[in-house]
Amino acid sequence: MTSDTAVRKYDLLLKGGRVIDPANDIDGHFDVATSGGHIALVGKEIPESHARTVADVSGLVVTPGLVDLHAHFYGYSASIHPDAHCLPEGTTTAVDAGGAGHLTFDEFNELVIAPATTNVFALLNISGEGMVGQPEQDLDGMDVDLTAAKIAQRPDLIVGVKVAHYMGPGWEPLDRGVQAAEETGVYLMVDQSPIHTRPMAEMMLEHLRPGDMVTHCYAMSKPMTDGDDKVKPYFFEARDRGVQFDVGHGAGSFSFRIAKAAIEQGFIPDTISTDMHRSSILVNQATMPETMTKLLALGMKLPDIVKRSTWDPAQAIGHPELGNLGQTRPADIAVLNVSEGNFGLVDNGSGNRVFKTDKRIICEMTVKNGQVVWDKNGRSRDDWSFTPPTNPAI
Ligand SMILES: [Zn+2]
Repeated sequence: MTSDTAVRKYDLLLKGGRVIDPANDIDGHFDVATSGGHIALVGKEIPESHARTVADVSGLVVTPGLVDLHAHFYGYSASIHPDAHCLPEGTTTAVDAGGAGHLTFDEFNELVIAPATTNVFALLNISGEGMVGQPEQDLDGMDVDLTAAKIAQRPDLIVGVKVAHYMGPGWEPLDRGVQAAEETGVYLMVDQSPIHTRPMAEMMLEHLRPGDMVTHCYAMSKPMTDGDDKVKPYFFEARDRGVQFDVGHGAGSFSFRIAKAAIEQGFIPDTISTDMHRSSILVNQATMPETMTKLLALGMKLPDIVKRSTWDPAQAIGHPELGNLGQTRPADIAVLNVSEGNFGLVDNGSGNRVFKTDKRIICEMTVKNGQVVWDKNGRSRDDWSFTPPTNPAI
């Protein structure tokens, strides 16, 4: 005798989508089955009778859950909640970029990371308070040993160091951040606009290490291109020596003028991220699907965009179990609709200007650890008519 449970060995079956899983070199029409919160099988024609829940995702794109390397969930005054803002956008893993420092990390973990459904990791700010109370100008609060000690204490949650927004003349915060990262074997993300005593070329060629990451790579405030829209040679030199370039869209850090010229000249971003916070999610809609849409409009190919939004960022944070749909991996999945129509995309940095396009990526479903946590059109749900009659006793 075969029990129903034995036959229905999968919890969820996503049927008929185009699966793009760059880590496993998959781009084609496959079904995806999950079991016990993990990926059970990516295969052809998996029978519907083998799954307890079936969702028809034909016409849609199925990718690993998106991995956003730059977001703000704590410390920054415009922080947002990860679950409310990531899960509806297909983002199942996100990194808070420097909201907490060694003094405030435990509170961040208690209030935000631990209760969240989204996988939240942290870049620890070299400033001890993180961004709580805007202390990023206070050199006395930037302690290499205490920062390194905190990273060593929580390597499960802290994936790197963040240095940002310092207005002083020199490189002291950055060099301390690099030292803390070096001592603990993690990478550093930097957000420093150039000033005359602190040129970008010097930062990229002399202070950052291979693997360190420059975020806001297409920002007007850190211009990659010169007055003739040509990418400055030192950006290519920095890339050649292993410096990574991250989008970090934000409310002031993504210019179509720069991004378009850079991509046409072959300078594509290593990783795609949002810098999502209360301001950037409004005018700029700085979500992963919208940021991916902008890069699609600028000529990048969808599989490459998916790779730089899933597998590449997962590797950057040292979590190769994420960002892919390999068997036994966590069942973190995004189902995306590449819709067609007349759309406008809004940039920033020197006014919010529109770029017209005919495709927009919209998140249809998000699966986190096998649970459907976002389902815009109820594809995994029974029809309303299955609702039983009301209880006559009440
Ligand atoms: Zn940021």
